[in-house]
Amino acid sequence: MKSLIGFLSSLVLIASAISPASSSSVANKLIECIANNNINPSSFQTIFNPESSLFSLLLQSRVQNLRYINSTTKPLLILTPSDDTQIQSALLCSREQGIEIRARCGGHDYAGISYLSDKPYIVIDLFNLNEVQVDVKEETAWVQSGAQLGELYYAIARQSTHLAFPAGLCPTVGVGGHFGGGGFGTLVRKYGLAADNVIDAYLMDARGQRFAHDVHEDLFVRILLLNVGGGDDKKKKTVQANFQALFLGTKDRVIPLMNKSFPELGLKAENCTIWKMMLEEDVPIVILEPLGGKMNKIPESYTPFPHRKGHLYNIQYLVKWDKNGKEEEERHLEWMKRLYDYMEPHVSKSPRAAYLNYRDLDIGMNSAGGKTSFSEASVWGQRYFRDNFKRLTEVKGMFDPENFFRNEQSIPLLHK
Ligand SMILES: Cc1cc2nc3c(=O)[nH]c(=O)nc-3n(C[C@H](O)[C@H](O)[C@H](O)COP(=O)(O)OP(=O)(O)OC[C@H]3O[C@@H](n4cnc5c(N)ncnc54)[C@H](O)[C@@H]3O)c2cc1C
Repeated sequence: MKSLIGFLSSLVLIASAISPASSSSVANKLIECIANNNINPSSFQTIFNPESSLFSLLLQSRVQNLRYINSTTKPLLILTPSDDTQIQSALLCSREQGIEIRARCGGHDYAGISYLSDKPYIVIDLFNLNEVQVDVKEETAWVQSGAQLGELYYAIARQSTHLAFPAGLCPTVGVGGHFGGGGFGTLVRKYGLAADNVIDAYLMDARGQRFAHDVHEDLFVRILLLNVGGGDDKKKKTVQANFQALFLGTKDRVIPLMNKSFPELGLKAENCTIWKMMLEEDVPIVILEPLGGKMNKIPESYTPFPHRKGHLYNIQYLVKWDKNGKEEEERHLEWMKRLYDYMEPHVSKSPRAAYLNYRDLDIGMNSAGGKTSFSEASVWGQRYFRDNFKRLTEVKGMFDPENFFRNEQSIPLLHK
């Protein structure tokens, strides 16, 4: 897979004519620097700045959480690279100008941190880098991080009737963010996370260098395609089915039934009060995504994602609303927080686990000044990564000692 972890794989600056008079001077300096550094200047025909007609369209095009669609926070520029050299110069120049960067692939981040920041920043949008090369014989594929999961699945399906890759359900989720945070879908119990099946990667550090598979053992990589069927023998091919259940009856009848079929859940009458809470909302959704199977066999330290043996489900809490406005937003978020608190006795403890790909800024953030101590960051870091968090901070110190790649929940440097 071409991409990941500390960084991106490729970017280009798309855009239309740049208007120096209307861009901020910081943005102009950045553009100037990119033009001076760029190995192939002709490829930088366009950079999107706030004055260009396509800026808002492009910025909003991959915003998945509509809470942020009208955000007043805007990047100085949107760069849409189409090769590594363009990413390189964007990184070098942002670093030189002291501007933060936000990498965006599919834009599905729940907290929008791939396109929002309260500091001066640019967005490096990788949607042009979506190539997928499948090697059926080797049962591997290289995928650029700007590809969406649907593009990856489609490329595999075009070349093989029996190979697959275990990742998320939603076809528009981006490879870059998804693989970086773990990534699971219907094949998780059989083959583990997307990240468990990445066997090689190209990375870029803050100096814009490109690393391949011969770097540090903590930085991993290449995708394994999985044989989910009987090869060419169509009779042995498997089909996966998802079951969603609805019980038409009272709790007195459903509890004994549930305890007979799923004793490990230990369902009690008081647990059924969640329905009352669900009925308070217009469109509440709680999804229990089953773990177990292969996930129980993969050691916690194999990838940053640690929630392996003994974890029954990953729970996703969602609430949807369609009216705009602060009051509406607060009402729904208050409900969501109550639901989250309500679930506390029933879920993992010390610490309560969280999944990076279901980003939750309420569990803690880096300090705005950029100096977060290990113990401060451990509050949320342990929830996402458990004991892997310490190792991640060590890798961070080796590969990004200036903390160039930072956001609200980026791995912090260990301060003495
Ligand atoms: C509708 C929907 C369905 C989902 N379904 C699933 C599912 O089935 N299974 C599952 O596990 N998760 C699922 N998710 C969660 C999803 O995996 C995460 O939100 C994931 O981080 C999205 O990746 P992205 O590239 O689309 O997002 P982005 O918002 O582009 O990126 C997410 C984060 O990764 C960083 N990033 C992105 N690309 C790079 C890169 N190349 N280099 C370095 N950093 C990068 C961004 O800066 C940001 O911090 C879903 C989310 C949504 C909104």
